[in-house]
This record gives sequence, C-alpha cells and structure tokens, in this order.
Amino acid sequence: MSNAIDLAAPLPAPSDFIRDLVAQHVAEGRYSRIHTRFPPEPNGYLHIGHAKSICLNFGIAREFGGVCNLRMDDTNPTKEEVEYVESIQRDVDWLIAGWADTKLGLKRKGAAPATQSVNGKHDFHLAPVLKTDLGPQALELSEPFFASDYFVQIHAYAVRLIEKGLAFVCDMTPEQTDEFRRTGQASPFRNRPVAENLDLFARMKAGVFPDGTRVLRAKIDVAAPNIWLRDPLLYRIRHAEHHHTGAQWCIYPMYDFAHCLSDYLEGITHSICTLEFEVHRPLYDWILESLDLPRALPHQYEFAKLIPSHMIVSKRKLIALVEAGLVSGWDDPRLPTLSGIRRRGVTPEALRAFAIGVGVTKFVSVTDIALYEHAIREDLNKRALRRLAVLRPIKVIITNYPVGQTEELDATNNPEDETAGKRKVPFSRELFIERDDFAEVPPPKYFRLKPGGEVRLKYAFIIKCDEVVKDAAGHVVELRCTADLDSRTGGANAARKIKGTIHWVSAAHAFDAEVRLYDRLFTEAEPEADGRDYKATLNPRSLEVVSAKLEPSLMQATPAARYQFERLGYFCVDVPGNGKPETQNPKLVFNRTLTLKDTWAKEAQRS
Ligand code: ATP
Ligand code: MG
Repeated sequence: MSNAIDLAAPLPAPSDFIRDLVAQHVAEGRYSRIHTRFPPEPNGYLHIGHAKSICLNFGIAREFGGVCNLRMDDTNPTKEEVEYVESIQRDVDWLIAGWADTKLGLKRKGAAPATQSVNGKHDFHLAPVLKTDLGPQALELSEPFFASDYFVQIHAYAVRLIEKGLAFVCDMTPEQTDEFRRTGQASPFRNRPVAENLDLFARMKAGVFPDGTRVLRAKIDVAAPNIWLRDPLLYRIRHAEHHHTGAQWCIYPMYDFAHCLSDYLEGITHSICTLEFEVHRPLYDWILESLDLPRALPHQYEFAKLIPSHMIVSKRKLIALVEAGLVSGWDDPRLPTLSGIRRRGVTPEALRAFAIGVGVTKFVSVTDIALYEHAIREDLNKRALRRLAVLRPIKVIITNYPVGQTEELDATNNPEDETAGKRKVPFSRELFIERDDFAEVPPPKYFRLKPGGEVRLKYAFIIKCDEVVKDAAGHVVELRCTADLDSRTGGANAARKIKGTIHWVSAAHAFDAEVRLYDRLFTEAEPEADGRDYKATLNPRSLEVVSAKLEPSLMQATPAARYQFERLGYFCVDVPGNGKPETQNPKLVFNRTLTLKDTWAKEAQRS
C-alpha cells in the first residue's frame, strides 16, 4: 500500500449541527428535496459575514443535492436600492462561481435535483414555479428572487388572518404601540369586528391614510413572555416608491410576516439565519401554522454570526465609514465588503475556505483575523506567479559590469507549481534594490547589504558594497558595488554560500507603477470594545501608496492572475468592485493583498 496522500481526493464534507440535522431529515425522507435560501436585504453591500451565510446555504444545497435561492429580502421601500441588488448578485456569483471545480470536498450527495440551471453553471440554483395556494395563477420567477414579488400573496395571507380573527387594524401611535407592547397591555382596537378590520385594511391599501396612522397587527398574546408574540406588527403604511414594485403599494409587510411566507412560497425546507432571529422563531411558526397552509412548512434554524477581529461587519456602520470618507468607497480594499475583498485580490476559493473552515455553531465568539489571512496566504502561495519588484528603490551601480550590456537570467515563476515554468529577467549595470535592504550602520545579525558586505542578488550574482554615495543633505543616493561575475548559476563560484539574498530590478528595464500597500483597517481586535468609537481605532497606516519599479514582464499583468512580489507580499492588478477600470487612472495599479508573513503577530510578540 502506498502512503502517498491523494491531494485530488475530496476532503470530507464539513459537518456541523445544522448539516447533521439536514442529513437526518434526508435519511428520514422528510422532504423530497432540500431547499435553502440566502436572503439579504438590499440596503447595503454584502460583507464577509454574509460570505459565511452564502457558503452555508449554497453549501448545504450543494452537498445534499438540493437547491438554494438568492432572494432579495426587500420589504422596506425607504432603505433599498437597485444598486445594492446588482452588487449582491455580482458578489454571490463571484463567491460561488466555479465552486464545483474546487477540491474543498463539498461533494454532492443524493440525486441531482430536477432543475434547469439558471446560467448553465450553478445547478444548485432553481427558478421555481411558485404555487401560491391562493389562486389559479402560478408565479414564474427567475433568480434573483424578490420578496416584493410576493406582495400580492402576502397581502392575501394577511386578509386571511383578519378573516380568521387573528389580525386587527390598530390606530395607536407608534410610541403608544411600543409602550403597550413593552408593558404587556392590549390595544383598545384589539377586538374590532372582522368586517371593520377588513374595511380598514382595504382602505390602508388604497392609500386613504397617511404614514404611521394605522398598522395591521397579529392577535396572539399581549402578555406573552416573548415580546415578539405580543400582538406584533404585520403591515405598516409607507407612501414610498419601492425599487422593485414602484408605486404599486403604500402598505408594506414587516420582515417577520414577509420572511416566513416568502420561505413557504419558495418551498424552502431549511430557513437558516443568525442567532438574533431565534426569539422570532415562535412568531415565524405561529404565522405559518395559523394560515392552514396545504404544503410542508419551512423551519428556521439559527447559528452564531461570523465576527472577525479587526473588522466591522454591519452594513450600517460600513455605510458610515464610506459616507464619512474614511475609505474610498464600497469597494475600498480595506473594507470587509465582498467588493472590497475581491478588489484586494482575495480569491473566492480562499474566502470559501475561510468561511467554511470557521465552522457553524451556536456560540458567539470573535474569529481571529489571522485565520482569514492564513487562508488567503495558503491559497496565494499556491497560485501566485513570483515576480521581482522594488517598492522603495535605491540605485546600485555594478562598477565591474560592462556599460550597455544586458543579459537575460532565468527566474522561476512559481516554486510551488512546476508547470508554471521559468521566465527571463534582464540584468544590467544599473539596478534598483529595496532601500530597506541596505543599512549603513547595520544592526546585529543584518544579512543584507552593508558597506564592505556581500549579498546575493536573487537569480544573479553576489555583489559587494564598495562605496556609499550621498547627496549634499547626507542622504544615501547610490551604492557602488562589484559583482563576483563567477557567482551566478553555472559559474565557478555559483555554490559560494552567502547569508543574505535580496531582490532587484534592472534600472533601464523596470517600469514605474502605482502600488497600493494595504493593511488592516483597524488596530484593535475589537474596534468597538469598551464602548469605543470604532473611528478612533482606525489604523493610520492602513494604506500607503508608492511608485514602485517593476520587472518588465509585469507590464503584461492580468487581473485574473495573482502575483507574489518576491520577499514583499501578494499583489494583484487593481480592478474596482464594479469590474470597470478607474476612469481617471489609466495607469497599471497593483494592490497588495497581504504581506508574506503575519507582521502583526510579530509585533504582538514583541510588545
Ligand atoms: P447587517 O447587520 O450587516 O446589516 P443583516 O443581518 O442585517 O446584516 P441581511 O441582509 O439581513 O443583513 O443578511 C442576510 C443573511 O446573512 C441573513 O440570513 C443573516 O442572518 C446573514 N448574516 C448577516 N451577517 C452575518 C454574519 N456576520 N455572519 C453570518 N451570517 C450573517
Ligand atoms: Mg438586517
């Protein structure tokens, strides 16, 4: 038997309490097909927390041969916008595209669902024909779904609740309603006759009443220990245009009413959400159970949110950062928005590995950002093409190298991937090296270039620093060195051992590019701990822009490729989150995804 590990073999599918339940339901044959959904409200851009939910919902559908719907949970006309709808679709597509080709081990189980794939790629999507139970007309919809497409059905269900004596129109002010619910008192309108409720609700819908004057409430239990059951609101008046339904409606269902019914209409089996909805679950069940619905009811399951350290994950607070101009926009590579993460150069494979790797539990805890960065480095180390680039250049003259001569040296594209091959890099008499790789007064154990010292230039010669040239102000402007011309590969001194190896570019052949050096946006693990304003813990060094010298092959850099600038970090070509180049900046721009090592961990150890 061979001990070799088969890297191509899928890893076991992830296992957690939700998947265990789904597996049990599959074993019991409880549903003909597993059906999940990812239901963002289009009131902002998706962030890394949503990535966890996307991977969980689409992942379960994928592993159990089921289906996952992307649904815009758009019941609030005043906060939602088409721009967000489009970005959500783009972000979800980016995160799950090509999933089937990866080796994450998310193996499909069971029979393939009898679905048409929406775009030929994701067969775990489905465009269902919704059976409304309310009329002859079935709704034919395609992805993404919109809760607002169900407003007609949801309204009809509200009417049914009124008819059953389970909902009433309440005329109290919002403040009174809050106060009555808090103190467990019944509304004076609670026992309105059904006919009066039907009439008032019809007039609410017809636009007769101004905003805030009346609501539809469920009649459940005014003194229930769970405040969500104290005659909660089902519908409110909002004379506002909706991004998807226009001016068609002036009454809008509340989240709790619309969500369970949208799940039911789409045939969702497992409605998975975060823990804050646990207290809403009795209401979710009450609504569905009160309507005498003929088909199987969906059930809600809750898990703990992803809270990564050194990040803010709340759409509202992210909006505040953008609006305060503290970042360049939604797709600023320092933000944990999926658009920012994508622009930073993180691949969907790395983000999925992280989002799945953190696991699914009921325990709320902060996830160390180092885990996220580790997943990114693992991924980029495998795929990144190695290149030579100098971020903060200082000139080096090789005095014993002929003026005007150029030679092409072999450089390895990716030591982790033999098939990536080699390329030529030009060498000449004038070079740039990193300013940091020279020290006039070196600290102990300094193995880079120093006066009289030697260092190896990667893929090239060993050089010795003979002379340090300074300007009138005493700044080092040039290093004059001699090369051991027998020390390159194939030469008589090729094997000569030298402690330090540094990177370089040929001055005549390198080209200038803008390089944006991104770092963590916040200095504190929990930017808001101890009641702090998160704006006060912004990292002042989260972005440094340099004009770097890059080896000529990078002129052909492509957005799809990932690069490692040797000894410096992982970089990518900048592509704004909407996929369109920055109009005012036609130059090639590179973004640093991450440094090669976790410099923050080192800092923490030191202090
Ligand atoms: P935010 O607080 O950022 O506005 P939200 O929960 O209001 O987030 P929704 O658009 O309602 O955002 O979220 C869509 C889905 O993503 C929901 O099912 C929600 O539970 C889930 N989700 C949101 N944030 C996280 C997170 N940090 N970790 C895991 N899942 C999340
Ligand atoms: Mg929300």
